[in-house]
Amino acid sequence: MNLKVELVPPVRRKPKPKDPLKLPFGSTFTDHMFTMRYRNSEWSDPQIGPYQPLSLDPAAMCLHYGQGIFEGMKAYRRAGKVYLFRPRDNIMRLNDSAKRMVMPEVDVDFVLGCLKELVKTERDWIPDLPGTSLYIRPTMIAVEPKLGVRASLEYLFYIIVGPVGPYFPEGFNPLKIMVSDKYVRAVRGGVGFSKTMGNYAASLLGGKEASDAGCSQVLWLDAIERKYVEETSTMNVFVKFDKELATPPLDGTILPGITRHSVIRIAKDWNLTVNERRVSIDEIADGTKSGKVKELFGAGTAATIAPIGELLYQGKSYVVSGGKTGDLTRRLYDELTALQCGEGKDKYGWVVSV
Ligand SMILES: *Cc1c(COP(=O)(O)O)cnc(C)c1O
Repeated sequence: MNLKVELVPPVRRKPKPKDPLKLPFGSTFTDHMFTMRYRNSEWSDPQIGPYQPLSLDPAAMCLHYGQGIFEGMKAYRRAGKVYLFRPRDNIMRLNDSAKRMVMPEVDVDFVLGCLKELVKTERDWIPDLPGTSLYIRPTMIAVEPKLGVRASLEYLFYIIVGPVGPYFPEGFNPLKIMVSDKYVRAVRGGVGFSKTMGNYAASLLGGKEASDAGCSQVLWLDAIERKYVEETSTMNVFVKFDKELATPPLDGTILPGITRHSVIRIAKDWNLTVNERRVSIDEIADGTKSGKVKELFGAGTAATIAPIGELLYQGKSYVVSGGKTGDLTRRLYDELTALQCGEGKDKYGWVVSV
């Protein structure tokens, strides 16, 4: 397949944001997007063209049955160079999501090539101040116009990108998070490990109740016993105990985060004991009182590492590390952000120059 490129004439391009440090997440998009279609059992028409609204039949299957998946990754521009962080892992995870949702897989190398081309095309849009980046959203939707519950025969895959400011504009402030034992996010055998659209729709009511209670996110518990910690709606979670860094195992109900995987690798290289094991909410709640829980943090592309300073669970508040950012949390954040920006020693081969 040949990638077709149709550039927007310079006079018709949008103005770039003036202050990238104040850019909210996910609300500014660039001049171009990548698209590719699937029909007759094959992908065709790969193209970089103008960013524009999609034309969809109202019977398009994604609009009725939720057959849609996405990815989230970032490009970083520092000292005139542009970097992607573990992009192949994102595309491979897209394929894992596709398999679960009976959608077609993409060719990893081809899509990576097209993504690099898109990022090069939008180079001038990538901010280079600390904490800023270009957010990348690959998306696949079922577009066959057909009512009836079965897998679609036609798909659209597209990639949109947009500049984003720092996740923590006011500094590395610990989050307050609500633990939900009222709603659940995913069950074993379900689609929790897949970045499929319905997972996020299902999280919204819990998210709203958390926000009404002054919390920024929900920490989900397992669907069966409502006892073991799973993850938040956008981040995996880690607990630092006295002599151990623990994170819930990949049992099919949580998203296999690339940041999660990176944290585990780095922490092991730092000679920390890292255990992928079930951690109950009681172990955490009691640990905040006894002092056994030293630090709690989230890991995901949007924030990289987000310190968690307080949990609200069954109407009670549990403060972690005195509500301050812990040392390991900060060290991991510094190490990962340096790597992502091409500033660290990349002994893992995670960084890809564009
Ligand atoms: C995307 C996502 C994460 C984080 O994954 P990364 O690859 O680290 O960005 C964690 N949990 C959920 C539910 C997610 O959607």
